Amino acid sequence: MISLQDTVLTYPDGPTRLRALDDVTVTVDRNEFVAVTGPSGSGKSSLLAVAGLLIAPDSGTVTVGGVDVGELSRSERTAVRREHVGFVFQQSNLLASLTATEQLLMVAHLGGRRIRRERDRARELLADLGLGAHLDRRPHQLSGGQRQRVAIARSLMNSPSVLLVDEPTSALDQARSREIVTLLTSLSRERDVAVVMVTHDLGQLDLVDEVYEMRSGTLSRAAPPQWCTFGRPGVRKCTTARSAS
Ligand code: ADP
Ligand code: MG
Repeated sequence: MISLQDTVLTYPDGPTRLRALDDVTVTVDRNEFVAVTGPSGSGKSSLLAVAGLLIAPDSGTVTVGGVDVGELSRSERTAVRREHVGFVFQQSNLLASLTATEQLLMVAHLGGRRIRRERDRARELLADLGLGAHLDRRPHQLSGGQRQRVAIARSLMNSPSVLLVDEPTSALDQARSREIVTLLTSLSRERDVAVVMVTHDLGQLDLVDEVYEMRSGTLSRAAPPQWCTFGRPGVRKCTTARSAS
């Protein structure tokens, strides 16, 4: 579970400061999949950076897995991030020289874990995400959609309780985008993870539980797409866009 309460984040901006997050309050439970839309520069990536403990806000409370991280030291915050948070970015950010399996083992290595024990887990994750035949391929031998799957598998290596995803489909065509967002939907359910996805891809919003809109640092719940009735968190009552049209 991830929760932001009255969160304000500013950046230096000449003589003044720019309010990138202006009193943001939001909670995303495990099993819940939330999308955040909004124009460029409205603060979406800043929201993920604060939620993922990469940046400490000026004020407000950030709670991850029930822990108020504002109370923690820097190194404790890093430990919470390693244990609880997975990131997926717009570009898959894979290392060109490493195979799919090695991309995941890198994370285990950075977390100080024994590579040998993690190898099976890495292979299993990749197979679960449909990459069983591509374990030993390097990024240039994979399609854009496959690379994004590797990045998602990598983000799951530490079994995060929160997955933060920044425009994962912006480089993909519609069919591949839909596959990736469908995958994120099932991950939120099956792996008991809170997923927050920033996206411009309005065509996939029927696959999420809640849609929020960011405007000039202010986050508000967007009107649901007409084919969705939003119920309790984790209870989706959407038909697919296709069956609604
Ligand atoms: P989005 O992801 O919605 O495009 P961002 O969160 O990246 O928005 O940026 C929100 C605002 O904060 C923008 O006006 C951007 O220029 C500004 N901003 C982002 N990062 C920094 C930074 N490191 N220093 C100064 N200003 C920044
Ligand atoms: Mg951004």
